[in-house]
Amino acid sequence: MIIPKSKEEIELMRESALVVSKTLGMLAKEVKPGVTTLYLDKLADEFIRDHNAVPGFLGLYDFPNTLCMSPNEQVVHGIPNDIPLKEGEIISIDCGAVKNEYYGDHAYTFPIGEIAPEVKKLLEVTKESLYIGIREFKVGNRVGDVGYAIQQFCETQGYGVVRELVGHGIGKTMHEDPEMPNFGRRGRGKKFVEGMTVAIEPMINLGTKRIEHLADGWTILTKDRMPSAHFEHNVAIINGKPEILSTFAYIYESLGISSDEEDEFREKELVL
Ligand code: MG
Ligand code: MG
Repeated sequence: MIIPKSKEEIELMRESALVVSKTLGMLAKEVKPGVTTLYLDKLADEFIRDHNAVPGFLGLYDFPNTLCMSPNEQVVHGIPNDIPLKEGEIISIDCGAVKNEYYGDHAYTFPIGEIAPEVKKLLEVTKESLYIGIREFKVGNRVGDVGYAIQQFCETQGYGVVRELVGHGIGKTMHEDPEMPNFGRRGRGKKFVEGMTVAIEPMINLGTKRIEHLADGWTILTKDRMPSAHFEHNVAIINGKPEILSTFAYIYESLGISSDEEDEFREKELVL
């Protein structure tokens, strides 16, 4: 059952989303060679609690940590550990927080120092596919329109689009209806309605779309062990159109990057 939110509820969800956005912005300064994902997890846990929220993933379905940390060939749901990050690697950081009973949940894949050109391109294409998908999340469209747009954009460039893991509705629970696959057929699936709130999250592989599960019961990795990227935003339909509740602006601020990719999805100016 899709649970549309009121304008007031969407504003609360924006607050939750921004706790995650700020956490990722804080982490952006810390992601560097020699740092362990367990250390970053501890920083995030403290940061979220300092912002009057609680970690959204910790304990959810018994997940043991605050962040999902998925380096290189790991797609999603990697568990933080004490292995230091290395120059040339990538790390997908997925973060959740609960504030005022509402969940925020989004993700960014960071390069660690200089990375190979084909991996850099994978990150760029995956992030661009996120915005291409978001553009289709509007009244009059259906779930398949978002999935189709992401799939076409990525597959025509030779990338693997993961099938087993999907985006989702989000609200007072982390995973609400509908499922939001990153593949699909135009005009198919559930209809989008005013006030819907979802997490759109392409998981795109440099090689095969096929995945495997690690024996830890959590980690998903590519079958061919080639790198995978993951970018996620929380998006609401307001006045029929997509509005991004989360932002990568805090990450860009930390990294000294400027970007206009979110501008078309924002009514009000974002105050950092
Ligand atoms: Mg997520
Ligand atoms: Mg999600």
